[in-house]
Amino acid sequence: MHVLLATSELNPYSKTGGLADMVSALARALAGTGLQVSVVTPLYRGMTKTFPGIEPTSWRWDVPIGDSLVDGRFHCQKPSPNLTLWFVEQAEFFDRPGLYGEVGRDYADNSARFIFLSRAALILARHLPEPPKVVHCHDWQTGLIPILARHDQLRTGWTQPPRTIFTVHNLAFQGSFPAASWGLTGLPSDWLHLESALHFQRVNFLKAGLTQAQAITTVSPNYAREILTPEYGCGLEGLLLKRYNDLGGILNGVDYEEWNSASDPALPASFSAQDLSGKATCKAALQREMGLPEDSGVPLFANISRLTDQKGSALIIQTLRSLVDAGESLQFVLLGSGDRALENAFGDLAKRFPTQVAARIGFDPALSHRIEAGADFYLMPSRFEPCGLNQLYSLRYGAIPIVRAIGGLQDSVVDPRDNAAQATGIKFTAYSAAALHKAILKALALWKEPAWLQHLRHNGMTADFSWEKHSAEYVALYESVCRE
Ligand code: ADP
Repeated sequence: MHVLLATSELNPYSKTGGLADMVSALARALAGTGLQVSVVTPLYRGMTKTFPGIEPTSWRWDVPIGDSLVDGRFHCQKPSPNLTLWFVEQAEFFDRPGLYGEVGRDYADNSARFIFLSRAALILARHLPEPPKVVHCHDWQTGLIPILARHDQLRTGWTQPPRTIFTVHNLAFQGSFPAASWGLTGLPSDWLHLESALHFQRVNFLKAGLTQAQAITTVSPNYAREILTPEYGCGLEGLLLKRYNDLGGILNGVDYEEWNSASDPALPASFSAQDLSGKATCKAALQREMGLPEDSGVPLFANISRLTDQKGSALIIQTLRSLVDAGESLQFVLLGSGDRALENAFGDLAKRFPTQVAARIGFDPALSHRIEAGADFYLMPSRFEPCGLNQLYSLRYGAIPIVRAIGGLQDSVVDPRDNAAQATGIKFTAYSAAALHKAILKALALWKEPAWLQHLRHNGMTADFSWEKHSAEYVALYESVCRE
């Protein structure tokens, strides 16, 4: 079977978050099972220089976007016999400093940019010599693909369009645009209604995917249940309830080639569950790199994330302040960027407590590996978390996760209260600084119990979140939509 994955981010070519990691690892795992896999994604600025393996093809085309005819060209890379990556060149749309915007503001023409990407995906789906049986769409940027495919089938004589699957990586990002942007799609005006993409008088790309794809998935089973409720459904819970029979949750996996502490080129020393001595070297190097006193006896906490309300960044700041004020012996390192006020607050905390708190504002994948390797504990107090990847990376790298028991965090971390033998981390329930504070105090108590600490760490490092396991669920889904 041939499957085409459509995505606006693909690790290591382009990345702002977990979407990039997930699609890249899933594509490789699927190709490893023998499926023919293609991926279509934009050719963003600088990619052909950084990745000389991407080669231009002679395949040029144009598609109408509103009243304009916009031209595109495919570039291609074939990392393995079963895996082909298609990069969509359109300089005006994609040769820009940001993926979705700059200095905290979305690009004004994001609707046109991602309609164009969706159209490019359908050109591949229709004209590749061996057309894909399934197009697997990811997040709002590709949400219009199912309805565009249906239109092409009904109005342009495309006799065998692919089945479509839509995966929601984060229901909070919906791609909502003024109703007038429907004109850019080239779809008839009467195709915009409450059962397609219309949502509160606007065009909602995510809703289009949710209403029109044959099957819907989210990135963890628990999040698939949560989004049926008003608390987590972002106003789409009614629609999701209607599609209950077509909705499932498949937990994301980890690319253990990239996240392998025994062979990670970003680390100053390697280590494994059997031999942790290299982890001590990584911790000392991280303390030095971040300007903290080098001290193996102090527990080192960490967080790497987009700085937003979703990730509970404000809870971390409040809790750290009170713990350090109370004289607790701990260190904390942050790597992140996003909300300016949160960036400043972390910076202020680091200035006020230079021997205990260090903050690096920016996006730095190599440093993120060194932090996971050097940290003893990893904080993830998210308000909501569709899957979350850093708790999985933390588990593998021996940084015990302290997580709020929601979304994929609930599915991937085991608290000693739930199962002492298989415990891997510490969980708390309320979205509050008080609850996080209590969880960190538990971690500090654990720090003084080396046997228990080692038990949790070992369980985490040997837990299996490999894509080999999780991709089988996608294969089963592809087969089932093709049978329908
Ligand atoms: P989300 O997709 O909601 O941002 P995930 O936990 O699913 O959260 O994935 C985030 C991914 O982005 C992880 O691979 C994480 O390490 C990475 N990441 C987030 N912020 C940074 C940063 N500042 N520098 C490097 N990597 C980052």
